[in-house]
Amino acid sequence: MRPRDRWMLAGGRWSQGTGEDVFTMTDPATGEPLGVVAVSTPADVDTAMAAARDAAPGWASTPAAERGAALHAAARAVEGRLDELAALVTAEMGKPTGDALGGVEAGMAALRRYAELGPLHGGRSLQGGWGAADFTVREPRGVVAVITPWNDPVAIACGLIGAALVTGNTVVHKPSERAPHTGALLAELLAGCLPGGVLNMVTGGGETGEVLAGHPVADVVAHVGSTATGRRIAELALRTGAKTLLENGGSDPLIVDAGVDPSWAAGQAAIGCFANAGQICTSVERVYVHEAIAGAFLDALAERARNLRMGPGADVTTELGPLVDERHRTHVHQHVEKAIADGARPLAGAEIPAGPGSFYPATVLAHCTDHMPIMTEEVFGPVAPVRTVASFEQALNAARRSRYGLAATVLTRDMAHAQAAWRTLDTGTVKINAVFGGAPGGAATPRRASGHGFGYGPELLDEMTAVKVVHVQSAVP
Ligand code: NAD
Repeated sequence: MRPRDRWMLAGGRWSQGTGEDVFTMTDPATGEPLGVVAVSTPADVDTAMAAARDAAPGWASTPAAERGAALHAAARAVEGRLDELAALVTAEMGKPTGDALGGVEAGMAALRRYAELGPLHGGRSLQGGWGAADFTVREPRGVVAVITPWNDPVAIACGLIGAALVTGNTVVHKPSERAPHTGALLAELLAGCLPGGVLNMVTGGGETGEVLAGHPVADVVAHVGSTATGRRIAELALRTGAKTLLENGGSDPLIVDAGVDPSWAAGQAAIGCFANAGQICTSVERVYVHEAIAGAFLDALAERARNLRMGPGADVTTELGPLVDERHRTHVHQHVEKAIADGARPLAGAEIPAGPGSFYPATVLAHCTDHMPIMTEEVFGPVAPVRTVASFEQALNAARRSRYGLAATVLTRDMAHAQAAWRTLDTGTVKINAVFGGAPGGAATPRRASGHGFGYGPELLDEMTAVKVVHVQSAVP
């Protein structure tokens, strides 16, 4: 349990903040208490923002190579506590140990990438008159409020914080109220490599987030989380003029074409729907399978779902950990119950298991239709709702009809179908013949309800900076 006086970091100093409010975290695998977390007050957010603002000029004028070196040191500090951080992730949100370690390693990699890319990120020279120097520079935007989710708490925070810091911004981070111990340890490790006030942290849920997102000192509000929250943050930031970066929810389709091996396709669908218990922004949320292979595909997918070993994340044999908490399990189960009431047929799962913890079984639903909320909304659980289609075109049309625009996957042997898919699917990412994977640095801009701006990749360095044009006329009359 974290000591009461280490829940808020401002200007290099830890404290408990000024409030009395606390909440108790519970372990999603057991329902047992995990610790008591202090909630930052609006006054605490003011203090953290003021510390970030005061540290901004000094950090902005620190040579970029030194900022990069600080990020390398931060990555080493994270590496030194790798197992502890991963264990906290597992304890707080239930992720199986191997996945939790992978998330922390991804965070270290992001810090290292930005440590290298940051000092190389600059403006360009312009072709002005002979007696002048004309060029552009990229300057830090100032203070960045970073608001992150629980589902991959280290990797996402390290990416946003790393890109903000290496470009000379200062940061106030609010980790998710469902992963505060992880967030606090991460802040401790990173801040230990930085001057006081460069990285600050507050705790709490939506209320603290609102104060941060609408704070007049924030120059950028970077949010990774749900679409509803992203919309609210956009409203708040509009009032202050802060730039927003929103990486939000998705309802990613998976299209399974005729002619593919149904067993292989079921394996892909199982990874896409059930990895991290479906709690990945780019989880497969709806499946369209061609009628020519639908029967064999559904049988194979249901069998895979039934065979997944469900258990506590800390058990190394676990393939399906618990959902993050009881509230989220209720949300997932309500979607499943509604779909069944509307005519979907459960082939696996769909029932809340007895016993402690917020476990939910891998669930396969056949006979789903386009208008079911389970097909239109983000469920964020281990659920595969499947619609059988008569043609690839029908699948593509249905896949395109969504308010979200994060990612999509197509499994096909037909190159014309693959080409039609990547050309016409209006999503940030299109994957052909693999639900996950891709080259490093492949950041995309999400569409519509999935957000806007680059939250990842080298382009995030552009987002975190503002461009200035400089014209220096050397001759003075
Ligand atoms: P969430 O939006 O509820 O919470 C994320 C953060 O926002 C938390 O720190 C939370 O306290 C804060 N927050 C909540 N309400 C707020 C408000 N009114 N004002 C300001 N801040 C507020 O999301 P979550 O449940 O933590 O995460 C799951 C969601 O995140 C899913 O929708 C998932 O798709 C999305 N996600 C997206 C990406 C991506 O890259 N697109 C990556 C990971 C997760």
